[in-house]
Amino acid sequence: MDTFVKAKARPEIFNLKPYVAGKPIEEVKRELGIDDIIKLASNENPFGPSPIAVEAIQEILNNIHFYPDSNNFDLKRAIAKLTKHDEKGLIIGNGSDEILKLIAETFLNSGDEIITANPTFSEYEFVATIMGAKTVKIPANKFKHDLQAMKAAINERTKIIYICNPNNPTGTIVTENDLDKFMGEIPADILVIFDEAYYEYVNSNQYVSGTKYINLKNNVIVLRTFSKIYGLAGLRVGYGLTDPIIAAAVARVIEPFNVNLLAQVGAKAAIDDVEHLEKSQKMNLAGKEFLYQEFKKLGLDYVETEANFIFLNTNKDCQEVFAKLLKLGIIIRTGDIFGYPTYIRVTIGSLEENKRFITGLKTVLEA
Ligand SMILES: *Cc1c(COP(=O)(O)O)cnc(C)c1O
Repeated sequence: MDTFVKAKARPEIFNLKPYVAGKPIEEVKRELGIDDIIKLASNENPFGPSPIAVEAIQEILNNIHFYPDSNNFDLKRAIAKLTKHDEKGLIIGNGSDEILKLIAETFLNSGDEIITANPTFSEYEFVATIMGAKTVKIPANKFKHDLQAMKAAINERTKIIYICNPNNPTGTIVTENDLDKFMGEIPADILVIFDEAYYEYVNSNQYVSGTKYINLKNNVIVLRTFSKIYGLAGLRVGYGLTDPIIAAAVARVIEPFNVNLLAQVGAKAAIDDVEHLEKSQKMNLAGKEFLYQEFKKLGLDYVETEANFIFLNTNKDCQEVFAKLLKLGIIIRTGDIFGYPTYIRVTIGSLEENKRFITGLKTVLEA
């Protein structure tokens, strides 16, 4: 079997590093035998899903013997209305992760290059590696995308540039001014992917969505998701906004029923729950202010965030901090996977969760 796999599998797969996911609550329960656990590791919404979405899913449950609509008709219509974007320019995916893979399958050949920031979301490199493309990682400058250096890294093999805005794991944004300049200067035959998974959390008035650059001279896809502020991570729905011609190209590689029935119905209903969205935005802002204050009291450096997580320097080995917080029933993410061995990334939780995290952090840092 081993010789068979080594001889016959595509060599690209041996270059893949497995995705490091946030530790699931049930796994921690099994491993540590503790019951009272909070997860601040995957930037999920601490207030749960929209009750309107849950109700809509419950109502459709008895229909799951039917295949879902392969065209996502109702959901597309709702997203088009929400985003004021042409329905024909929409891509709906089993999470925006799937759309990242679909884009790679559509555009990337072996030997192509993509450009990303470092640190950033690991999926860009993952999908490029599957296709045999090379990832050129440009170090962030003060935790922000260094757009000038990213532009300078463009060569004849460059096919896609990924801009994670706000960036995961740093929470930083690229400003409208910087983006205007960048988009005006790069060659028109490069595809720019804006990953806006945290779009709804942004407060800065210097922010602009990548949708501004769709239909100009550049080739652009903007990705959003129902996994973060909409609280539907378990359903797996994300969407892309782009030019209809690009959407049609990507549609060629989509599996016919990639978005399941419950996901289509739940996401559509969630769009209507403006109250849930606004409450989540407000609570996130309050949680951010609370955590900033507590970090200041503890004398800890953090990166100012425009998302629902904070990248924080603990000045200690992050694996140690992780293990000790875990014993207290608090799951966070370590910064070492992003190249920052003393940093952790913590999701902004509910008020209660934030307080428990701070208490736990104090215990761990004082030990
Ligand atoms: C969480 C996250 C995603 C994944 O979203 P799904 O829609 O759940 O696949 C994409 N991009 C970034 C930057 C994320 O943090």
